[in-house]
Amino acid sequence: MGGWALAAAFAVEFAGAQPALRTGRRRVMASISDNDWRLQERKPYLQGASFKLMPWASKNPQQWDHDHCEFCRAKFAGQEIPDALHEGYGTKDLYYWVCPACFEDFREHFGFKVFA
Ligand SMILES: [Zn+2]
Repeated sequence: MGGWALAAAFAVEFAGAQPALRTGRRRVMASISDNDWRLQERKPYLQGASFKLMPWASKNPQQWDHDHCEFCRAKFAGQEIPDALHEGYGTKDLYYWVCPACFEDFREHFGFKVFA
């Protein structure tokens, strides 16, 4: 009986420790995300999005000759604009583009997938 009481006390203590552990983990996540200037908007539309590393291409070449990284606003464009990025992670519909640096920084936070 003494042993059971001890086990129960341990269980209570362990259960009590759990929320603190979870809070700790959330605080670590927040240091990557919420304080990052690139996350001023929460961008729910990018949650779990699929991207492919490819040469930049316009979704609508008649109207758009460039795009911007969804996070840092780095410019994507064709070879005629030499100081722009020419390759990045684009969605299948070419609508959203993320530069390689931001993709690596946020792929875990947003659960990005890569399609072939
Ligand atoms: Zn970027």
